[in-house]
Amino acid sequence: MPDYAHAVELLRAGELVAFPTETVYGLGADAANPQAVSRIFAIKNRPADHPLIVHLPDANAFSPWVRSIPSAARALAEAFWPGPLTLVLPRAPNVPDVVTGGQETVALRVPAHQVALKLLRAFARSGGGCGGLCGIAAPSANRFGHVSPTRAEHVREEFGDAIPLVIDGGPCPVGIESTIVDLSRGEGFAPRILRLGALPPERIEALLGTRVELPKASQKSEAPRTPLTAVKASRLPEVCEKLTAEGKKIGVLVFSPIDAELRAQARLRLPDDPEAYARALYDALHTLDAAGCDAILAESVPDDPRWRTVADRLRDQETDQVSGIRCQESDR
Ligand code: AMP
Ligand code: MG
Repeated sequence: MPDYAHAVELLRAGELVAFPTETVYGLGADAANPQAVSRIFAIKNRPADHPLIVHLPDANAFSPWVRSIPSAARALAEAFWPGPLTLVLPRAPNVPDVVTGGQETVALRVPAHQVALKLLRAFARSGGGCGGLCGIAAPSANRFGHVSPTRAEHVREEFGDAIPLVIDGGPCPVGIESTIVDLSRGEGFAPRILRLGALPPERIEALLGTRVELPKASQKSEAPRTPLTAVKASRLPEVCEKLTAEGKKIGVLVFSPIDAELRAQARLRLPDDPEAYARALYDALHTLDAAGCDAILAESVPDDPRWRTVADRLRDQETDQVSGIRCQESDR
């Protein structure tokens, strides 16, 4: 049983606490305390203009954070909170700049994870926060540019003793980040998805009865240290063969039953269902990263809306360095 009282004490003292959510592990600080929030940026090496998501204990807690609540925000919060949906709304004037990256908007979410909710409620009950602002600002608990953590061990490996408390809630049940929807442009504008995530855009469209704008390009923010590239299943045997013949150690990540045929140093096969694949993806990338390979080849995923978020994350993880080891066959 996690020591929530200790976690709350740390948060109220301006310290950081890593905790599980259904999406990934978060690195949390009292969102109303600018010094505490600054620590997140320092320890992650995160650029100051990258705003954080504020986690709330329930949908009622969001009014102090925002200037106004558009009807679409209410409807989405009611339908999908707690859950993997982040709403970007016009911020209230007293929201610290360090949380919003100086923007006029704030990103809010109620996570669907019992440990996260118990922590958030305990923090609220203790009188946590300031000036009516009660929430925990938390980005993913990894250094800037690294793979998001879906297990407490990933957080410990990344930060060692630099974080006073990592609450272990087991593996994250969703394993991929929240969908971020921007509703800050006002009633006349279509909701805009800023980041694809665990909640499919179709469900948002169905609820609101309007089209939503999809993001144009992935943000390319996080990647394993080992260069990764996507390769079609039909080309994988030949690409593995070629790179191995060049003396490269290859890690493969597939979902088709072709792993045994591939010449590789490390092979991981994930489920062929997009949700189950997403749940296992970051853990697989951590494992392959640790395997000492020169490159990771990921089997290209189907060009199908059900695989959209996974495809986005694989693109996110891709680096150009694999082409540097002359892997011209790689394509999607
Ligand atoms: P992470 O570091 O993985 O938790 O990512 C947080 C994400 O939320 C980033 O992609 C941010 O750009 C996004 N975000 C947070 N606050 C805002 C905001 N006010 N406006 C737009 N995007 C935001
Ligand atoms: Mg992140």
